[in-house]
Amino acid sequence: MIRNRILVIATRNKGKTAEIRDLLNAFPVTIKDLDDFGPIPEVVEDGDTFDENAYKKASFTARVLGYPALSDDSGLMVEALNGAPGVHSARWAGPEATDAERGLKLLAELGNQANRSAAFECVISIAVPGGPALTYEGRCEGTITHTPAGTSGFGYDPVFFYPPLNKTFAQLSMAEKSRVSHRGKALQGFRDEFGKVMKWIDRHMPEPEIIGCQSQRGDS
Ligand code: IMP
Repeated sequence: MIRNRILVIATRNKGKTAEIRDLLNAFPVTIKDLDDFGPIPEVVEDGDTFDENAYKKASFTARVLGYPALSDDSGLMVEALNGAPGVHSARWAGPEATDAERGLKLLAELGNQANRSAAFECVISIAVPGGPALTYEGRCEGTITHTPAGTSGFGYDPVFFYPPLNKTFAQLSMAEKSRVSHRGKALQGFRDEFGKVMKWIDRHMPEPEIIGCQSQRGDS
């Protein structure tokens, strides 16, 4: 298969890259992420919505690297915590906390609360260096466990129970999770329109600059 187009995943989260790479595996794009490039400035994720942050990350990365970029902004909304951690999911227990520590903080905050309803949300933004972007969204509903279970995945997967499969996300294989997850659903929107999106990218990518070659013959 010719993987002629580069698409940069605007993340350093290896869990996200692995899921996105897997879902786009059959498509003719070469997937890279930020670790494939030299140091580039971090985007400040200070938007109030997943949508705003996803657009910021994708458009900044596309502008800085000169390639089309795909970003995923996602998080967990817990009903009894008024939607927290939401857009702050990644840094909820402090910038240095581990996934396990964030999960335990969530369980501690919920305590014995009976209402354990929660949902993951994901917004995928695909941007070109000039600014415009396309957006896809996905949501997955479940409940928060009383103790972590499972070792797959990343983030809050061990504390997110998905009733239709009777397992936490961390007890599912990557393929099983992607079939039902917020990210899988958002990426399904992109996959369904893959051909159209590639044409959109081609139309919006800047024309390559043609640099003329001048010979210097030194005629006198
Ligand atoms: P951001 O989109 O990079 O700001 O971070 C999203 C954060 O939400 C991740 O660091 C995880 O903590 C959490 N999150 C998003 N998607 C998932 C998922 O599929 N499983 C578990 N946690 C997730």
